[in-house]
Amino acid sequence: MDFGLTSEQQMIVDTVRNFVEKEIHPHEQAVEKSGIVPGDIAREITARCKQSGFFAANMPIEIGGGGLNNLEFTLLERELGRASMALGVFFGRPSGILLACQGEQREKYLLPAVNGDKFDCLAMTEPQAGSDIRGMRCSARQDGEDWIINGSKHFISHADIADFAIVFVATGEEQMTDRGTTGSKKKITCFLVDRGTGGFEISSGYNSVSHKGYQNCILSFDDCRVPSSQILGELHRGFDIANEWLYGTRLTVAANCVGRARRVFDLALNYASEREQFSQKIGRFQGISFKLADMITQIDASDWLTLSAAWRLDQNQDANRQIASAKLHASEMLAMVTDEAIQVFGGMGLMDDLPLERFWRDARVERIWDGTSEIQRHIISRALLRPLGC
Ligand SMILES: Cc1cc2nc3c(=O)[nH]c(=O)nc-3n(C[C@H](O)[C@H](O)[C@H](O)COP(=O)(O)OP(=O)(O)OC[C@H]3O[C@@H](n4cnc5c(N)ncnc54)[C@H](O)[C@@H]3O)c2cc1C
Repeated sequence: MDFGLTSEQQMIVDTVRNFVEKEIHPHEQAVEKSGIVPGDIAREITARCKQSGFFAANMPIEIGGGGLNNLEFTLLERELGRASMALGVFFGRPSGILLACQGEQREKYLLPAVNGDKFDCLAMTEPQAGSDIRGMRCSARQDGEDWIINGSKHFISHADIADFAIVFVATGEEQMTDRGTTGSKKKITCFLVDRGTGGFEISSGYNSVSHKGYQNCILSFDDCRVPSSQILGELHRGFDIANEWLYGTRLTVAANCVGRARRVFDLALNYASEREQFSQKIGRFQGISFKLADMITQIDASDWLTLSAAWRLDQNQDANRQIASAKLHASEMLAMVTDEAIQVFGGMGLMDDLPLERFWRDARVERIWDGTSEIQRHIISRALLRPLGC
């Protein structure tokens, strides 16, 4: 067992950290205040990302990507967690599910996404179907060689800048038996839908307290006609490709949380070593120093959970439970670390002159998206109990 980074892994960490500090941090405060990423800054970040060789780092080298393995990509995401998410979007990482593209879909979607000509968004969640994604109402019915989609999706990240959407819809029902109970379940199919397709509209979503400038949108389908050739993967097998390509995105959330927590921790550590009250550095008070001890212990624990889950993926070992544990621990850890960092800073911690109140707000969404903490606990407990027949 080797806990050190190779020189190549260290190079990834150093390069991305340098990029984040140089190209992203200077714009963060303005984006936070305006809630908007100016187009010229977005283009600049993407151009510099391409120059750095890290654009589409998650995609295979053979199709023009960076070819990072899961562990390397997790290290990259850990560093990107130190950046504003609204700006970090432009450090291009196309959705891995596009690797399911076949035939002409590769030329039309996969390759343009990898070289940065097209941008994707991924749409599962609906107003009535969040954690219970199979309860989705957005559906498609067949009409000759085409499919007609009706329904809506909400909370869809950065759809405002997407050229096409990867959309999961219900395409029928089937009978199933689970632990002795018989019922019907929806068959789900994944479609690629271009912006501008008749009957498909993308509109602004809600204002979130977390990650200002990171837009969420509402997608509406009103008799939206798409040909069968736009099906990603196989008909009725949308969850198969989702399971194959998407559960790793939880690892991304975990890695982002670890990176951001270390940024916050460094601020708290420095402040504790400088701020004086009662003629002493506040770091000398056990009430403050023990907070720092607890913070770093939890950060390190999240870091190892996250990296070891990524390592398991690279060894082709099942990592579903480990990824859920990493996402659960890291998102809850970040909430604790941002809250305690504000306590270390006292009143100034709440003022928007400092970025701490932003990190505290931003941390809130990490326990919700990509599967809530309760859903992660469900995944973990099922993995433990199912083999015992429970
Ligand atoms: C800013 C933002 C961006 C997002 N981006 C995207 C995106 O790009 N694409 C996309 O498809 N989705 C996206 N989402 C959706 C996100 O994945 C969902 O919000 C999340 O899955 C939870 O669904 P929900 O909000 O409907 O909550 P619900 O599912 O309604 O949950 C409400 C509460 O009930 C709990 N609960 C539900 N079921 C159970 C259960 N079985 N056991 C115990 N507790 C349970 C939940 O944990 C939660 O506490 C985004 C969300 C946000 C906030």
